[in-house]
Amino acid sequence: MNEAPEASGVRWERDDDGIVHVVFDRPGEKVNLLTPEILVALEGWLELWRREEAVRGLLFRSDKPGMFLAGVDVEAIAAVREAHQAAEAARFGQRVLGRIADFPWPSACAIRGVCLGGGTELALACTWRLAADDPSVQIGLPEVQLGIIPGFGGTQRLPRLVGLGPSLELVLAGRAVDARRALRIGLVDALVPEAYLVREARRWLLGQAPARRRAKHVAARLVETVPPLRRYVLAQARKRTAARVRELEYPAPFRALEALEAALTRPLPEGLDIEARIVGELVASTTSKNLIWLFKTQTARKRTAGTFAAPPRDVRRAAVLGAGIMGSGIAYLLADRGIPVRLRDVRPEALLEAARTAAGLWRRRVEQRRIGAREARQRLGYLSLTLDWSGLRHVDLVIEAVVEDLQVKRDVLAEVERRTSERAVFASNTSSIPITEIAARALHPERVVGLHFFNPVPRMPLVEIVAGERTSPEALATVHALAVRLGKTPVVVRDRPGFLVNRILMPYLNEALLLVGEGVSIEAVDRAMTGFGMPVGPLALLDQVGLDTALHVARVLAAAFPVQAASASPLLEKMVADGRLGVKSGRGFYRYDGQRRRGPDESVYPAAGAGPRREIPPEMLQERMILAIVNEAARCLEEGVVGEPQDVDVALVLGTGFPPFRGGILRWADATGVPVITDRLVRLAEALGERFAPAPLLREMVREQRRFYEGEPAPAPSLLHGGGVSPWPR
Ligand code: NAD
Repeated sequence: MNEAPEASGVRWERDDDGIVHVVFDRPGEKVNLLTPEILVALEGWLELWRREEAVRGLLFRSDKPGMFLAGVDVEAIAAVREAHQAAEAARFGQRVLGRIADFPWPSACAIRGVCLGGGTELALACTWRLAADDPSVQIGLPEVQLGIIPGFGGTQRLPRLVGLGPSLELVLAGRAVDARRALRIGLVDALVPEAYLVREARRWLLGQAPARRRAKHVAARLVETVPPLRRYVLAQARKRTAARVRELEYPAPFRALEALEAALTRPLPEGLDIEARIVGELVASTTSKNLIWLFKTQTARKRTAGTFAAPPRDVRRAAVLGAGIMGSGIAYLLADRGIPVRLRDVRPEALLEAARTAAGLWRRRVEQRRIGAREARQRLGYLSLTLDWSGLRHVDLVIEAVVEDLQVKRDVLAEVERRTSERAVFASNTSSIPITEIAARALHPERVVGLHFFNPVPRMPLVEIVAGERTSPEALATVHALAVRLGKTPVVVRDRPGFLVNRILMPYLNEALLLVGEGVSIEAVDRAMTGFGMPVGPLALLDQVGLDTALHVARVLAAAFPVQAASASPLLEKMVADGRLGVKSGRGFYRYDGQRRRGPDESVYPAAGAGPRREIPPEMLQERMILAIVNEAARCLEEGVVGEPQDVDVALVLGTGFPPFRGGILRWADATGVPVITDRLVRLAEALGERFAPAPLLREMVREQRRFYEGEPAPAPSLLHGGGVSPWPR
């Protein structure tokens, strides 16, 4: 007996006991969202139910497996540009959820699977929250990751329910908790086997709820009631946040602290008002616009369906060849996602080490209570080791991560073709050999594809998918879908030397090396780039990657691109010859104690043949290194290494840590102005050499007055150096 208004993605029905079931289910989609339309409908319905005699309670649930509510539609947030509009939208959401909280009858959420953002705020407004006792449950408030804070009362109701400590954990990092943790901190009231979830919630609503709630921990109550203690805890949280991010770049967690403090010190309506005002300011901020844009762009890259001309092959079993740094990480990830994997190496000690490392990673997660001991054992059971070629007959996919040598890779491919079914896909993790070369003598070159993971595999969120000349759409779709299943964001790239990330990174790293050769100090070079927002400076990054690995990539690129060959700094070669390989050898640009970085290694300067020390202002250092990236990115677009500027931006943020608050290098370029950048490149080319000669694409864009992102609202310039019109000295 539904009555108007209606909204897509939600319906309601009243059962015989007077319980209104509000059921979220977006037709044809994997996720449920709390859209503005749904909120409007809910408000109307609440008014209706309030007046209806027969209603006894409200039960919110979902018909989608593994999904309650993934939050507010980011499109709706992205569309808002003015602070007052955003604050109004927040107030509206607060009002609707407030009506649930004040409803004359009790309300409950039956949470299964994902419950994030607005979904969690809806749950917080209910009388009770019951969750499925299932590993798929994830409850959280990830708003700060989008540069905003929860705006539908989340910052106010959460601390009232669970106390300050757990609220800081949830809101400031934006990390979700699983069902067990949610129960432990009091975010949910009960865990119920999924099959009984709705039945149990109904029982509670019909008067069978436990009489007493779990009392808050004594420490939590003290923190809330003793002002100096509260101030101390908040100050500590602020300090921890400041150690992680800078307020000017990422204001959201700092503002979240203000909102949480208000929750403990002000009445609810005042707290809600503060929350809405903060949301307004943040939604309109450049940082949030950039983070939301990146989120959308990244999500779009995870869609396999419709991206390729063929559907993916389901990977039920896989094999990984080579149990080195990369292969062992890839095998761990596959087993972790429940895919049985056969790991082969020619060295028994490599296999043992791989198994030991994987077991250690799972053990740590058991200790952190992220997974159960049984799950850990099960995942370890998915990993099987072999020195020979057994166990490959039925795999759907083979990932090759043997040594970087064309002949070895071809031999391995020939063996695989002999030993697997005709349809198995062969993916190479090569970082520099063209896929087309590897597949040149294959019986089935169409099944050969590149799947380039980054080191360390479990942590790095990006993979490059490389299409060889003859790679089939099925092979591409298969590794794409697998990458997404492994939690990665795939970017499809053309089979060109260095693919995308390494190709763009090298001119940047090279510029850093040249600067050291010119007498600029190691710290000054690195500090300039961390000042720009990079997580580590280029020289520290070289130390982490390994100077020998970097040299290998540099050589591959120099062989392919005359500009890179002509401008390559000799320093890399010298340092490798000198045994300075970076972290792994205890010395590179810095000195190391194990993994710990000590000071810069002064002996690098004479080795670099550097003249007298030179001081160059950080803006000029940034300019040289950043413009090297922009120029190479433009060349990549020109050559069709990737299809769209979005690919470049997502890949650099996820693959190199390019500062997300800037939205990506090309978005930054648009904000700075392509003509400004091109002009600076021309001047740098005059002063420093051909490597800075602007890519033809840039010149063309200037002529035609185009931006990288035509059709999108122009991004506002970033607040910091390198923003707006160039502050660079001329
Ligand atoms: P690694 O030297 O650590 O491991 C290679 C492993 O392959 C060794 O254990 C070796 O015993 C084994 N192996 C050699 N021949 C084999 C064969 N025929 N069958 C099975 N195993 C064999 O190397 P890595 O750093 O893990 O690199 C592996 C691949 O991944 C290379 O192609 C490399 O370019 C690529 N890659 C490396 C990185 C990185 O940062 N290390 C990043 C991306 C891609």
